[in-house]
Amino acid sequence: MAIQSQSRSTSSPSLSRNGGDHNGRSLLVEQVHANPGPTPRFAEDVFTDRAMRERLSKEVYRSYRRSISTGNRLDPSVAHSIASAMKDWAMDRGATHYTHWFQPLTGSTAEKHDSFLTPDGTGDSISEFSGSQLVQGEPDASSFPSGGVRATFEARGYTAWDPSSPAFVNRSGSGVTLCIPTAFVSYTGDALDKKTPLLRSMDAVSEQAIRILKLFGSDAGVDRVIATCGPEQEFFIIDRASYERRPDLYQCGRTLIGNPPEKHQQLSDHYFGSIPPRVLSFLVAAEKKMIALGIPIRTRHNEVAPGQYEVAPIFETANVAADHQQLTMRVLRDTAEEFGLACLMHEKPFAGVNGSGKHINWSLATSTGSNLLDPTIEAHSNIEFITFLVCVIRAVDKHAALLRASIASAGNDHRLGANEAPPAIVSVFLGDMLTDLLDQLCNGGLHHTKSGGTMDLGAKTLPHLPRDSGDRNRTSPFAFTGNKFELRASGASSSVSWPSTVLNTIVAESLADMADELEAMHVGARLTPAQVSEAILPVLARVTAEHRRVIFNGDSYSREWHAEAERRGLAHIRTSEEAFQIYTEPGVVEVFERFGVLSPRELASRHEAYTEQYRTQMVIEARCLAAICEEHVMPGALRSVARFHHAGIECGATGGAAGNLAARAADLLAAADALADVVDRLREASALAGASEHHGAGEAAQPTVSIQASIVPLMQQARTLADHIESRCADADWDLPRYRDMLFSR
Ligand code: ADP
Ligand code: MG
Repeated sequence: MAIQSQSRSTSSPSLSRNGGDHNGRSLLVEQVHANPGPTPRFAEDVFTDRAMRERLSKEVYRSYRRSISTGNRLDPSVAHSIASAMKDWAMDRGATHYTHWFQPLTGSTAEKHDSFLTPDGTGDSISEFSGSQLVQGEPDASSFPSGGVRATFEARGYTAWDPSSPAFVNRSGSGVTLCIPTAFVSYTGDALDKKTPLLRSMDAVSEQAIRILKLFGSDAGVDRVIATCGPEQEFFIIDRASYERRPDLYQCGRTLIGNPPEKHQQLSDHYFGSIPPRVLSFLVAAEKKMIALGIPIRTRHNEVAPGQYEVAPIFETANVAADHQQLTMRVLRDTAEEFGLACLMHEKPFAGVNGSGKHINWSLATSTGSNLLDPTIEAHSNIEFITFLVCVIRAVDKHAALLRASIASAGNDHRLGANEAPPAIVSVFLGDMLTDLLDQLCNGGLHHTKSGGTMDLGAKTLPHLPRDSGDRNRTSPFAFTGNKFELRASGASSSVSWPSTVLNTIVAESLADMADELEAMHVGARLTPAQVSEAILPVLARVTAEHRRVIFNGDSYSREWHAEAERRGLAHIRTSEEAFQIYTEPGVVEVFERFGVLSPRELASRHEAYTEQYRTQMVIEARCLAAICEEHVMPGALRSVARFHHAGIECGATGGAAGNLAARAADLLAAADALADVVDRLREASALAGASEHHGAGEAAQPTVSIQASIVPLMQQARTLADHIESRCADADWDLPRYRDMLFSR
């Protein structure tokens, strides 16, 4: 086994080409290869409901369950008993520390570890973890983005236990830590994180959905409607030695320069291909960790670009799915490192090949287990489903720009509309069956449900297959996929919390407006279920007619659609800079405030924090690009020019036997010279743009320089020149791993 992995490592193209620190790492890589370890029990490192039942008294457990289902606060003595049981459970698993684990606006997770150890005053120590330590923490909040909610000196922040997402034990290196999922708020009670608004939005959509269920008399036994989420994660895997030699990758997460290889994804031979052995070993190891953490990971496959893969879990309650998604990203990154690999979660790590997204599958389910977006077989007689469907369509049309903003990021700017990901125009794909249903609705009645029939495959041994009533559409940003919607436009590196929060909130609004209108007609009070449906149909038909412009079943990549969308008046917001402005619009402020998801102040803070993050990210990229050009690209060009000179070929010399080579030398030198000029201008522009970074509340912001207008065009110019130089540089003179080294390392 060890010999095998040794030979695999050395035969890896980038390791043998680029050297790297293979010798130091190979021991570790061999160990993990040789010792894959048993598959853990599902959720064995999670303080699950079962663990609670086993470790808590009946009384305490019941009291805990009651407070979860009613949403009432936990009695302090109950919290204390839970804390003590949780600590014993975690210590049984080797935990020495605990942390409140939260999700600041950075998009990643935060933790500060505290030991269970407490001196007992006699020179000895005991292990302690109290109810109040479980329920509330007080980390210094000053260094997290607050978007101006507080000044840096106003440091107090609180974390608050989210009992609806189970605590777990995290193993990293030799550390074992009890992690308690928490919300994170400021001293003033403003949400400083992504979990708090998500939980609020889940409450909002639940409350409004139940109003609709009541109208249909189908609310019996339903104490909650749950937003569900199943996030698919795309990523690239490259050899770690290459990664560590690309300052752009380890600082910015993407390559800022580089020529696509001659062969990349043109032959579509990577998608769903067999997973390379080292990558599979890494995935298996990562999945084992996820299983122990209770992440219901299910699917793995090769994606379109060489070196690109996807994993997906089974869907869960949105807030648990969001927590698990953060853990999934971490496990993938950490495990890749153990295998001498690097996991790239950026939306566009390599220009010229497909980027990575995170499809957010979303639906609403009752606490009794029924999926409210399941059309069922006789969809035309399922008015309740059609009501929910129409409300979602209305929400997406009314708040398309907000939904677009929710997936905006510096990384996603490179991906949206790049003919591999949906364009930055939000539309809804419904498919034939539902489109036909809405046509019938608008024409005055619902009579039948289109079915796909069956397919005869023409060979006797093959079964007859039932055909879905419509094809799939992978070009749509928001597609109905059978019994759920799939928000396909979100970026691979982003947290799913914020887009989910937006979806829940805007759908809550549509459901509320629908419920207001129907309740005002007193439809539920006096009519039979059939009459209720009759009364509702005209309302549904009207709302559908008002919002059906957002429905588009065709090719969203096509130019025709862009023109058509403009005719329909749909927003086409091309950049993050533009998208973030949406957060200041009155309709957006209003919808968050109306449902108690974000106060105007909290929303404004997100506007500021996300804008600042975007600008800072772009300035870092600009500076990194300038540095790479100075430190690698220009010296590489000069080395190559020198090689020509050494062979007696003078730049600019014309004619003669080596005229073509002389022209190449001259071209390289000219490109390097032009690059030097662009780099100077890029440095200036990024200094100007950077001046508006990092100002505290109260301090006046510098006049804002548009990143799109100042930095982006210069970065493009620098890249064009650098890529040209790379294409002309001898391998011996080019000291950065090239795209083909990275994309084809197995
Ligand atoms: P597809 O190939 O169409 O994307 P999958 O069945 O692979 O479909 O599902 C993709 C993701 O959607 C999975 O994570 C799955 O668990 C999730 N999913 C399925 N049903 C729901 C639902 N009702 N709500 C949220 N996510 C769902
Ligand atoms: Mg999918």
